[in-house]
Amino acid sequence: MATVPETERAPQEALAAQLKRTLEIQRRAFRSEPPDYRRRVEALRALRAGLLARKDDFVQAISEDFGGRAREETLLLECFPLLDQIKHALKHLKRWMRPQRVGTGFAFLPGRSYIVYQPLGIVGILSAWNYPLLLALSPLVDAIAAGNHVMLKPSELAPRTAELLKAFLSELFPEEYVAVVIGGVEVAQAFVSLPFDHILFTGSTRVGRLVMKAAAENLTPVTLELGGKCPTIVHPDFDLQTAARRIWVGKLYNAGQTCIAPDYVLLHRSELEAFVELSRRIVPQLYPRLVANPQYTRIVSRAHYERLRQLVEDAREKGAHVVEINPAGEPCGPDNKVFPPTVVWDVRDGMLLMQEEIFGPVLPLVPYETLEEAVEFVNARPRPLALYYFDTHPKRVDYVLKNTLSGGVTVNDVLFHIAQQNLPFGGVGPSGMGEYHGVHGFRRFSKARAVFRQSRLAPTRLIAPPYGKLTEWAVRFLVR
Ligand code: NAD
Repeated sequence: MATVPETERAPQEALAAQLKRTLEIQRRAFRSEPPDYRRRVEALRALRAGLLARKDDFVQAISEDFGGRAREETLLLECFPLLDQIKHALKHLKRWMRPQRVGTGFAFLPGRSYIVYQPLGIVGILSAWNYPLLLALSPLVDAIAAGNHVMLKPSELAPRTAELLKAFLSELFPEEYVAVVIGGVEVAQAFVSLPFDHILFTGSTRVGRLVMKAAAENLTPVTLELGGKCPTIVHPDFDLQTAARRIWVGKLYNAGQTCIAPDYVLLHRSELEAFVELSRRIVPQLYPRLVANPQYTRIVSRAHYERLRQLVEDAREKGAHVVEINPAGEPCGPDNKVFPPTVVWDVRDGMLLMQEEIFGPVLPLVPYETLEEAVEFVNARPRPLALYYFDTHPKRVDYVLKNTLSGGVTVNDVLFHIAQQNLPFGGVGPSGMGEYHGVHGFRRFSKARAVFRQSRLAPTRLIAPPYGKLTEWAVRFLVR
């Protein structure tokens, strides 16, 4: 067996030991006083006030991480959902925490049954870089609401935001309550091998597998918020201009670096050309300039930029049509990391961009003849995180919903199911497991504990030995 040299092993072991110590400190604190309603409310209020006070700092840190991220996107797509989520939790927490009375089996009456939602303990959260504030704090809000302590490892690809999160959260909370761990892959690996009571991971399907494997060692349950290709189907009866506009708005938020961005569009064959033409008109209305426009977000890194370029080049080489929409003809490249909105059609399965999640402003168009064919196309591929369908015909909407499965759906628009506080958010199959947000997040980070309270009469004495006539009567009554 290969052994790791002492010099290499030492830092990794020291790191693991340090993380373990933090976990132990948190565990001790949790055991001595699990957060009650008052403490949770105080924490959520502090988080809300802190966010409002520091929002401009986050706008700046995220923008520096991207080399340019629209201020409005950080405020509307990260700060607003967080503030809304906290408000929702504060409004409903008392009710969520109340023991839930449920019916008791006839044979056990007059005993009583109820469910008590108790905090799990210490939750480990790993977040992705693309919405580095939202994806770190949204699970944190739910975990705090459910009464847990939290260790958070933000993504190393948004380092300034990670540092700011650490400073921000350590100003608000003691380390034994909320701790932020900074670092790259090695830290992440040590982090997921800790015996947490739950791990919530947001990131790629590939790393999700590794996280689940590591967590299995400790039998730590996981929530995996993963990615994949989110299909969009447009029915020819739906106004194409409206659909195209809504698709492009959603696609180009964060320059397409959104887990639930429409990845590709299934269009009736007769509408393909019109969609391309509409794209040429709509994109310049949204972004008259790309480079000299702080509202058009940059691709997070050179490597991510090159990957996108390779996806498009591969498609072009394999015979696809590519239209780049660069309204002011500005120079775009890996140096400024501005990737122009790009429409691609005549795509085939063998092309990389039809295999990988795109995660950028590139939109392949896939023609279909019948709706059944479009549904089949979706079903022949891994179950997506989100699916979008544009149609106003209730029966056809029903047909698409019944015959497909995805984490969530928005009908007649894209993305916005994620913003509904009463809807669960999470994937299915390769796009993830488990869901959070609102009451679903509260329950995700709680143990739904079964409590049965026996009555003084305890009819169960009829089924205790020595078995006699009464038991015989009970058997006749119960086993039929
Ligand atoms: P990633 O999987 O590369 O990294 C995510 C996190 O995993 C980082 O914090 C990283 O430090 C950590 N990590 C890396 N290697 C690890 C390992 N071996 N063991 C444990 N942890 C490890 O993902 P990414 O590039 O940051 O994010 C992009 C992906 O995330 C896309 O697929 C996107 O769809 C998905 N995503 C999903 C959601 C969602 O809510 N479902 C939201 C945003 C992004």
